[in-house]
Amino acid sequence: MAAEFPILIADDDPVTRKLLERTLTKRGYRVTVVDDGRKAFERFQEEFFPLVVSDWMMPGMDGLEICKAIRGVETEGYVFIILLTSRDNREDIVRGLEAGADDYLTKPFNPAELAARINTGIRILELERSLKKANDEIRVLSITDQLTGCYNRVYMVERMEPEIKRAKRYRHWLSVIMCDLDHFKQVNDTHGHQAGDMVLKGFAEIINRSIRDKVDWAVRYGGEEFIIILPETDLEGAAVVAERLRRSAAEARYTAEGTSFHVTASFGVTGLNEKTPWEKLSIDTIIQHADTLLYAAKDAGRDRVHLDQL
Ligand code: GH3
Ligand code: MG
Ligand code: MG
Repeated sequence: MAAEFPILIADDDPVTRKLLERTLTKRGYRVTVVDDGRKAFERFQEEFFPLVVSDWMMPGMDGLEICKAIRGVETEGYVFIILLTSRDNREDIVRGLEAGADDYLTKPFNPAELAARINTGIRILELERSLKKANDEIRVLSITDQLTGCYNRVYMVERMEPEIKRAKRYRHWLSVIMCDLDHFKQVNDTHGHQAGDMVLKGFAEIINRSIRDKVDWAVRYGGEEFIIILPETDLEGAAVVAERLRRSAAEARYTAEGTSFHVTASFGVTGLNEKTPWEKLSIDTIIQHADTLLYAAKDAGRDRVHLDQL
């Protein structure tokens, strides 16, 4: 556990340095030792250290300046800072804490006390990590559709805006595929709601298998309606993806209570390029156009792809 929290040690006195290093490595900590403040901050910027033990009085950059510098940069997590000081009047201690130190030890320090204070720091760091993990999990839940694992509409609105802005700024292509399962109500009516859910999951898997990882993204837009965003993809490219999806959907077989069946899907594909009237562009106009094309595909007999530029 100790090794998960690497410690940066800064002290200009070789004897204290050695003692700090020995005390902490003996207890299983990974330590990095430097002999002045400036080096400490440079090292910190190269690699993240959740724990910093720094001497107060050092040439170049002192302990207070290190505290302020660390607090002034963005870090991937909290940094617990312990100042070592030979000053122990109250005013100094207050100054140290105000500069951003979490704790302090007066020199000459007691190794067991240092270890105990590092442990206090780790308790706080662990608390912060578990909170962050919980927050990350909540975030994932809040933007994903539970049944299919696709993104939800909340996420779509959030991400579409910057995606369109980027396409506009760099005059990039951006394509959108809207798709809807054909006669899906019949699936529920014939095979039951659970079978319907299975088909939705299966269709989402087909989508996620067929699009570029981390570039394209799929949203469950409604009950059995999905939207796929393809950045930097022209209409032709998007049509190829849609056609591949259409074929995979039509070929997939599902089984419910011993009966095998399949479900087709219809697609509306649209995209923006240099001819697009950028000024008028919004999420709504793009979705609306894709929707119109999707319904044209439905009217034309379903199980097909309709495409048109924006
Ligand atoms: P069309 O080809 O015109 O799209 O016909 P359709 O039957 O697919 O369209 P319609 O909009 O009439 O019906 C959609 C159905 O999707 C109705 C609804 O019960 C079902 N549905 C929506 N969400 C879910 C879901 O989460 N699970 C299941 N099993 N069914 C769902
Ligand atoms: Mg449908
Ligand atoms: Mg529908």
